Amino acid sequence: VAKNTKKESYEFFSPELLDSSIRKQEITSALQQALGNGEFSVHYQPQIELSSGRVIGFEALLRWNSTLGAVPPSEFIPVAEECGSIHSIGEWVLREACEQLSVWRQEGRPDVHVSVNVSAKQFLDLEFAEKVSAILSATDVPAKCLEIEITESVMIDLDTAAGLVEELQDIGVKLAIDDFGTGYSSLNAVKNIQIDTLKIDKSLVDEVLGSDRSMAILATIIELGKNLGADVVVEGLETLEQVDLMRQYEIIGQGYYFSRPLPADKAVRVWDKYLEQPEGLFHAPILY
Ligand code: C2E
Ligand code: MG
Ligand code: MG
Ligand code: MG
Repeated sequence: VAKNTKKESYEFFSPELLDSSIRKQEITSALQQALGNGEFSVHYQPQIELSSGRVIGFEALLRWNSTLGAVPPSEFIPVAEECGSIHSIGEWVLREACEQLSVWRQEGRPDVHVSVNVSAKQFLDLEFAEKVSAILSATDVPAKCLEIEITESVMIDLDTAAGLVEELQDIGVKLAIDDFGTGYSSLNAVKNIQIDTLKIDKSLVDEVLGSDRSMAILATIIELGKNLGADVVVEGLETLEQVDLMRQYEIIGQGYYFSRPLPADKAVRVWDKYLEQPEGLFHAPILY
């Protein structure tokens, strides 16, 4: 007799459960029309080299103004992954980001990269690299200006992931590991693939002021990134105190202190202020 090791689980009917499943259904159904209705947009958040105050890139962050109102990516991305629309949505974000890059390049703006978040499901699609390549040629953007942000979750299929990473490296796009330090196997992720950028999660930065232990951990992760030959980005810098503390390291900062994610036209205004007075931003946040 086979032993039943699986614990029995009971799901009690609850209004909360019903609410969340209705909400999920609403999102799933609203997602079907979202691309066609032009409900998505991309916001851009600058990444700043702390040693110089130079904007070296922007992270592209998806925004959805849906028939249900504004729904944050933390809510709709998991649903899009589940219902499969992540493929078309993700491709749209990539194209949109590259088109924006192309416009900035044509305007003669300084070279920057744009970092695009790609979910594991989208990344592990065997045609992903081909799609990226097609978008780069169509928009006439050099591969090195595009950075793909993945998380350790792509490691669920290490063989596929390793192959795709190689294809992307051949194309010349950069690869970042996002939310480093939050998962179970962050070290495993950077051990198995060669990355260009290590993005340290906000949660690791939040506690450093006032905690020597947190600071020791953060400093060690920064060192790890550098020893791996990667650029290090610290996410979620919100205060001047945090920025000042981070300036002693040769790293890149991203966070509300510098700018919230903004539509391209507004992001450009912030960018221009940083071009005018790169040092100024270390004395007071730029208001926009
Ligand atoms: P992420 O890639 O780690 O992006 C950083 C998130 O932190 C963004 O939230 C950004 O708005 C927020 N953030 C930046 N600076 C600060 C700060 O100083 N303080 C605080 N409290 N938050 C800050 P957002 O835009 O809501 O995105 C959440 C997550 O959704 C992203 O986390 C990413 O995992 C996912 N996401 C966003 N856009 C896309 C996309 O186009 N495709 C995919 N697959 N995922 C996306
Ligand atoms: Mg990201
Ligand atoms: Mg992150
Ligand atoms: Mg994330």
